[in-house]
Amino acid sequence: MNKITNHLPTAELQALDAAHHMHPFTSDAALAKRGARVITAAKGVWLTDSEGNRIIDGMAGLWCVNVGYGREELAEAAARQIRELSYYNTFFMTTHVPAIALAAKLAQLAPGDLNHVFFASSGSEANDTNIRLVRRYWDIKGQPEKRVIIARRNGYHGSTMGGGSLGGMTYIHAAGGKIDGIEHIGQPHWWAEGGDMTPEEFGLMRARELEEKILELGVEKVAAFIGEPIQGAGGVIVPPSTYWPEIQRICDKYGILLIVDEVITGFGRTGNWFGSQTFGIKPHIMTIAKGLSSGYQPIGGSIVCDEIAHVVGSADDDFNHGYTYSGHPVAAAVALENLRIIEEDGVIDHVRDVAHPYLAERWHALADHPMVGETKLVGLMGALQLTPNKEKRAKFAAKPGTVGLRTRERCFRNNLVMRHVYDRMIISPPLVITPEEIDVLIARARLSLDEAYKQVR
Ligand code: PLP
Repeated sequence: MNKITNHLPTAELQALDAAHHMHPFTSDAALAKRGARVITAAKGVWLTDSEGNRIIDGMAGLWCVNVGYGREELAEAAARQIRELSYYNTFFMTTHVPAIALAAKLAQLAPGDLNHVFFASSGSEANDTNIRLVRRYWDIKGQPEKRVIIARRNGYHGSTMGGGSLGGMTYIHAAGGKIDGIEHIGQPHWWAEGGDMTPEEFGLMRARELEEKILELGVEKVAAFIGEPIQGAGGVIVPPSTYWPEIQRICDKYGILLIVDEVITGFGRTGNWFGSQTFGIKPHIMTIAKGLSSGYQPIGGSIVCDEIAHVVGSADDDFNHGYTYSGHPVAAAVALENLRIIEEDGVIDHVRDVAHPYLAERWHALADHPMVGETKLVGLMGALQLTPNKEKRAKFAAKPGTVGLRTRERCFRNNLVMRHVYDRMIISPPLVITPEEIDVLIARARLSLDEAYKQVR
């Protein structure tokens, strides 16, 4: 077999890929129709593929490359750490400086008394940790019956058995099942489900489903509620302003632990360090990953409040949970350097400056397109709802997602990565995107919408 490098012809790489590489969330039929695009290099917000195309990455990879691609400082941090201490674990009474320093830094950045970090290698693993943490907490408190975690339909919390079960995507549950003790309530997606209500009324109504569910199950059975400040993979669903305050009130009233999944919204995405700050939420646990290392290393974790950490830590028995790579020194060193860049380069101020009004004006102007209904943007996280009739908030006659997929394909051809969730187009570019690059993103988005619209009419 030839040595497999970037120099092989694209078709050859695609054939090998299809023959041997099983992709996440992809079918063989899709790969057979059009081979996977082979990405060969990236710098800033720009990707290069094996055909030499320069593609603007409107999704920061998978919502993770917050400081942009190809940062020398991060390469240096990884190389330095590999030379010094390439691996050691944090089990059985050992630790190392990168894990100590990163945990201390996160405790400083996180709001309130979120002062303790349990590391994982991904958001899914961190949410699995959270399931154990909250159940263990109630066990030690003498309330072992409190095991149920309430989550939302169309929420996303990863694709391990635990994360996938917390998520409310039925197609993921269908792929191998769902663990017990997870219940779902409705999502705050006003455009699709709000009917004649105002967004504010609808936000309250959906939040109160939490109270109804707690009462239906019995408060003595409920351990926690989990939600993303903005549902990302669900389609960048920004909840009405009434939603989170009511969720907070209900969690406080019934003493339910609140887990806020910040895997996407953390580390500057919404214009603050955490989405919880943007929405005024006070979590007991925050799930983090992605932007923690800007995707340069696989690392995630749970930032835990004093009370839970002390209760779980104070038991006679160990907390019997952990991953070989919990607090991996190279991942931790890279994450620490990434946080230094975000802080010292003023990346979060940049998000605020570039998002409002520059991107916001241009993004919301897309609402004049005949196929675009709702436009949403918080920080650098945006959605365009496609519809055949804006006033009626109608759905297309075609199978849900057909028009979205077509639009995404047009974006692809126009060298823009914009994702679709059914018929909703979403963006989440690297946080370092410049106004000039925003102009390119918007121009390519408009062109792609126009082309897709011609096919729909
Ligand atoms: N939680 C949220 C909100 C996410 O968006 C994701 C991934 O997109 C995850 C958890 C899972 O993270 P990972 O893919 O790193 O396991």
